[in-house]
Amino acid sequence: MFNILLAGFFLMTLQASTTSPIGPGVPEALAAERRAAIQNLRYDLRFIVPAERTAPVRGRVRVRFDLKAPHRVVFDFAQPADRIGHVAVNGRETKPQIADGHLIVPSAATTRGANEVEIEFVAGDDALNRNDEFLYTLFVPARAQFAFPCFDQPDLKARYTLTLDVPESWQAVANGRELGEAGQGAPPPGFKRVRFAETEPLPTYLFAFVAGKFSVETATRGGRVMRMFHRETDAAKVARNRDAIFDLHARALSWLEDYTAIPYAFGKFDIVMIPSFQFSGMEHAGAILYNQSSQLLDESATQNQLLDRASTIAHETAHMWFGDLVTMQWFNDVWMKEVFANFMAAKIVNPSFPEVNHELRFLLAHYPTASQVDRTAGANPIRQHLANLSEAGQLYGPIIYQKAPIVMRQLEAMLGEQAFRDGLREYLKRYAFGNATWLDLVRILDSRTPQNVAAWSRAWVEERGRPEFETTIDVDSRGRIASLNLTMADPLKRGLIWPQRIQVALGYPGAVRLLPAALDGRVTAVAGAAGLERPLYVLPNGAGVGYGLFVLDDASRIYLLEHVEDIPDALTRGSAWVTLWDNLLAARIRPGAFVDAALRALPRETDEQNTQRILSYLTRTFWKYLSEAERQSRTVIVERTLRQGIDRGATQSQKASWFNAYRDTVVSKDGVAWLERVWRRDERIPGLTFAEPDEITMAMELAVREVPSWQGILQAQLERTQNPDRKARFAFVMPALSADPAVREQAFARFQNVENRRREPWVLESVAYLNHPLRQTHAQRFVRPALDLLREIRATGDIFFPQRWSDATLSGHASPEVADIVRDFLARNPQYPERLRWTILSAADELFRAAR
Ligand SMILES: [Zn+2]
Repeated sequence: MFNILLAGFFLMTLQASTTSPIGPGVPEALAAERRAAIQNLRYDLRFIVPAERTAPVRGRVRVRFDLKAPHRVVFDFAQPADRIGHVAVNGRETKPQIADGHLIVPSAATTRGANEVEIEFVAGDDALNRNDEFLYTLFVPARAQFAFPCFDQPDLKARYTLTLDVPESWQAVANGRELGEAGQGAPPPGFKRVRFAETEPLPTYLFAFVAGKFSVETATRGGRVMRMFHRETDAAKVARNRDAIFDLHARALSWLEDYTAIPYAFGKFDIVMIPSFQFSGMEHAGAILYNQSSQLLDESATQNQLLDRASTIAHETAHMWFGDLVTMQWFNDVWMKEVFANFMAAKIVNPSFPEVNHELRFLLAHYPTASQVDRTAGANPIRQHLANLSEAGQLYGPIIYQKAPIVMRQLEAMLGEQAFRDGLREYLKRYAFGNATWLDLVRILDSRTPQNVAAWSRAWVEERGRPEFETTIDVDSRGRIASLNLTMADPLKRGLIWPQRIQVALGYPGAVRLLPAALDGRVTAVAGAAGLERPLYVLPNGAGVGYGLFVLDDASRIYLLEHVEDIPDALTRGSAWVTLWDNLLAARIRPGAFVDAALRALPRETDEQNTQRILSYLTRTFWKYLSEAERQSRTVIVERTLRQGIDRGATQSQKASWFNAYRDTVVSKDGVAWLERVWRRDERIPGLTFAEPDEITMAMELAVREVPSWQGILQAQLERTQNPDRKARFAFVMPALSADPAVREQAFARFQNVENRRREPWVLESVAYLNHPLRQTHAQRFVRPALDLLREIRATGDIFFPQRWSDATLSGHASPEVADIVRDFLARNPQYPERLRWTILSAADELFRAAR
């Protein structure tokens, strides 16, 4: 709230002065100034795309717009000034001012009403993804400005007319449908000219084109012609997948037209398969881009791959309404389009995969990861203030990807499915081809329910953190429940209430009874509990749809620690494990007791999703929370349990889960010796084959345990590794595995130089091994310099690098000394950037808890 009010004030004061320097990127004030001044925006773009990857792409843009009065016009073009050629404003040659990646047309050159600015330029390659035989644009979130002069903000939607001159043997596809080749002069020799029809209004981040050598498949579904562009050379693979891909799109489109009551809005419908695409998909209107390898599947594709493909297709198709038809006003609301796309995708796809336990999948995919940030002092709200679009990358993280979907399910549960759908219909209709904020939707939903959606949104969306719940159960003299109450508290002492609908599980021998509860205030009496027989345990988040720390009452905690595996239902069992882990972190359960429960329950767990979750909890507790003595006393049983799991696993993937947990926790002499024999291929595990990456990890785990032959193992693994990328990576990480502390210190010192940090996955693997729990005493010396580097890492690295660097540095540490180093660092840097402070605090959370 505070941030938003302040930002509003800031905007008004800046808007008045249009002579102040603009600065790089797209600051809020510039976006607001342009949004207020510019109307009826159209781009007429032309690019000449040469076949040679290094030859420049030249372009020309004619930008037409209306002004209410003469006004300076600031274009974004993040390229050196010498890439701008001739500029004409309203037909007159003009010399624009160029500064900080902007091209500024002075107010005096403009006129009231219609204006036209024509600019010739050389496009930057930054967002053109140029390959030898093809290129594709990817402008999200604000990267169109690298390719052509534009207003690179989501709320200046424009109609685009595009002409591409491409090599004669190439195909071209864009948002609009292709027109004939008539008119417009002739292309250069060796080129052909492709013209595209004017688009519906689109923001810059959804404008796209692809050109290159592609094959095209065409199909008609429900009267709509669809095309699929691809570069797959295996004809059988294409034949095997094409109908499924067209069918999945057709089904998603008709489902969405039905749900939203709005027909698909962008005319033609094409999809383009890109080899090694950065994301799984990108929702450019009328021309969706996909990662080719996750769409064109092998015959051996698993159920999970099929589900992922169907979900991705439904997700991108849902964006045609959520994001493309109605777009967020500013990137602080980017979470909305992502949540809605996922939300719709689940509704569209899940019924086609009845054999998957979707509720359990949702729980395990979202709750643990969301809480990993939200329970910490580094928690951030879903909706954050964003001062400049150049910082948009920093908004992405578990709070957007994992917490927001939980929040949206709660919203639908509060409103009811039909009122929720009708509210979305109204929202899409009212803002079609325009922009809206989260608060615009909140207002619509608020008018459709007696509930207070605005108050709900404040706690869930605008504020950070999560609630804590306590259970109070009173039993009468006959052993029956007199009352069952849940009390909600705000651990950050703001008095917030997070209204939510949950199902409270009461456990009885061989059965679970679920009671619905609407938690709308501080204390909620669970209706329907009174008079029931006293249960063995109460699990407030029984169906896994609630959100917060659910502190178990004493009797339930003791029962679940001893009998969690007796819960008959996999979803309730999964929720019990998530709750037990939360109670461990809240210091309500001793780590030893937790590990003992996991070791006892694991052999009886029948659901693979739960097995994987428990194994990961076991590994983390083993290294982070057990004392040295506790670890030693359990070594034998941990290793025996995991070895038996490997033997018992029914499938390769089950065996691999058990084996990986074994590999990561083994410490006994005999246990490590067995791992070494497996690595040497002297020992085979029936039903489990290892690929090169598995052997590499084994070699690393053996080295960090300093087996006598560690040097020989690393050397042999380097020679054994065939794949050149993996070989280079292994050679890079090797010094971080050395038993010689001096070599490890040099391995760390390399990262002071930005050139040695370019390959981020290699760096992260090195840092994680340098700070491995077995080496944490020596590694204390790396913590302070690693934190000192963080600001530079943010400036030079990819968007997820600061968080991953912090996690890799701190995840192996559990000592009070290192906790003090982190606290001291933060105390000495009171002016430290807020988002980076959150990054450190969330990475250090488990260290602080373990050190306590
Ligand atoms: Zn998306």
